Amino acid sequence: MTETPAEAPRTPQPVMGMYDAPMWQSIRDGALKLQHCASCDTVLYPPGPVCPHCLSSELEWRGVSGRGTVLSWVVFHKTYLDAYPAPYNVIAVRLEEGAVLVSNLEAPLPEGSWIGKQVRMIFKPMPDGFVLPKFVLDTDGTRS
Ligand SMILES: [Zn+2]
Repeated sequence: MTETPAEAPRTPQPVMGMYDAPMWQSIRDGALKLQHCASCDTVLYPPGPVCPHCLSSELEWRGVSGRGTVLSWVVFHKTYLDAYPAPYNVIAVRLEEGAVLVSNLEAPLPEGSWIGKQVRMIFKPMPDGFVLPKFVLDTDGTRS
């Protein structure tokens, strides 16, 4: 168990479904893994018992690139949870592997929009030590 500073707000904990534990372990390990269908290569997110595309139950946990594109974003100007003091952003990212994740972008507000911006995943400890997958702008220019 991670030592928690007494004054740090507690990060809301994931609600664990039947298939979520390996994904959260991979986040704690700093390298996100998602289920891939061994039959048709569809990436499942959220995790589940069968491929939603071909109904195969031959699923494998594989690492993902962590690179993606911002689909949508919003800035909240009201604090709903102590762990997320306002203002804070929420983004939807489509990973290269196809899964869409909802997270936060560690960047100053853009002059225009973040939609279409390339991002990459980081594993950021919250103030209480709980690690969450978040994103930063991917500006290294190595994308094809
Ligand atoms: Zn499949």
